[in-house]
Amino acid sequence: MPTDVLDRADLLGHDAQFDLCAREGRPAPDGDGTAGGLAQAEKRYRHGDIRRHVSLVRHPTDGPIPVLKMLQTNACAKDCYYCPFRAGRSFRREAFTPDELARLTDQLYRARVVRGLFLSSGVVGHHDYSMAQIVATAEILRTRYRFDGYLHLKIMPAASDAAIERATALADRVSVNLEAPTAARLARLTGTKDINADLVAPLRRVAAIAAAAGRRVSRVTQFVVGAAGESDAEILGATARLYREVGLGRAYFSAFRPIPDTPLDGLPPEDPRRQHRLYQADFLMRQYGFEAGELPLDAHDNLVRGVDPKLAWAIRHPDRFPVELNRADRQTLLRVPGLGPGAVDRIVAARRTGKLRDPGHLRALGIATARVLPWVLLDGRAAPRQLRLAEVEAAEGAASA
Ligand code: SF4
Repeated sequence: MPTDVLDRADLLGHDAQFDLCAREGRPAPDGDGTAGGLAQAEKRYRHGDIRRHVSLVRHPTDGPIPVLKMLQTNACAKDCYYCPFRAGRSFRREAFTPDELARLTDQLYRARVVRGLFLSSGVVGHHDYSMAQIVATAEILRTRYRFDGYLHLKIMPAASDAAIERATALADRVSVNLEAPTAARLARLTGTKDINADLVAPLRRVAAIAAAAGRRVSRVTQFVVGAAGESDAEILGATARLYREVGLGRAYFSAFRPIPDTPLDGLPPEDPRRQHRLYQADFLMRQYGFEAGELPLDAHDNLVRGVDPKLAWAIRHPDRFPVELNRADRQTLLRVPGLGPGAVDRIVAARRTGKLRDPGHLRALGIATARVLPWVLLDGRAAPRQLRLAEVEAAEGAASA
């Protein structure tokens, strides 16, 4: 592999980390086949640390897998006010040809360094040029190299139907970054994108194409949090609509951090706890059956910062507690603070063979009882040493102060 390709891989791999849609974690530094592959590949390619450009992503059937995260180019003609790659900003711009990037990915795949590629790009050239570059890279991988690994492709704003169709046929997952929940909020982040025509419509198109082809192609998006004056209610409302209307798989939230020499470099960074609470709330919508409108908000329409949203909901709904663990249905159990889907499954299974009568039964099921006991009954009785709700509230308030 020519050194200039590896040099560009270092730059464009680094720059790709700004996109959260393919970031779950990093491969373990050693101890599995992947890490061994990384060490071998580093020797073979004699270049910098490949690990920096490999992220773990959750494969729909295989669990976490290592994926090369790369930009086709970091050049961009758009003006997003928060973005380090925006037009006119001075820094080193580079690009891969589709041939170069497909070959690099294939070599890392054969060396068992990665099991897939996440490919994003800046927007350059004539309309649809960047999307065509991404599709060409994927096409070469799938046809010339017979690559059967995981492919996550970014859909460029305002991509043509033909390009979206091809990307959908080649990818396991696609993403379109909305960045803001409404047109008015997006206008505070960029003057060059239309939220419906350029961003939501492509997501809809992917959903329709995948459904018609009978293919499962997951769809994800990302929001910048805290740069457009948006509230959590707006973000969660937009996310819920996308789940409902375009079958979005999940949303990612990125707390705004000012980048020097951008129009928003004077804004303060967003509190990372806000991003954390949004992820918790989003999880409640996707896995626990909560509606966006049920999540407790403060006077500014933001999630309560000091208490996790599920506990905040429980505190505001004393009429729904205590819940009898031996009788409640699954949805009711999922509302109990401290019970996740796995714990609920274990409770439901255990009830088939007998009654849950004391905290020891819960602990035997691997359930941390401290959070659960204040909200439940075990065979009609409150658990011994049950905390009062007020104590829970006070404890949570102190923890969040
Ligand atoms: S389209 Fe906007 S967010 Fe994407 S790379 Fe260009 S300037 Fe950045």
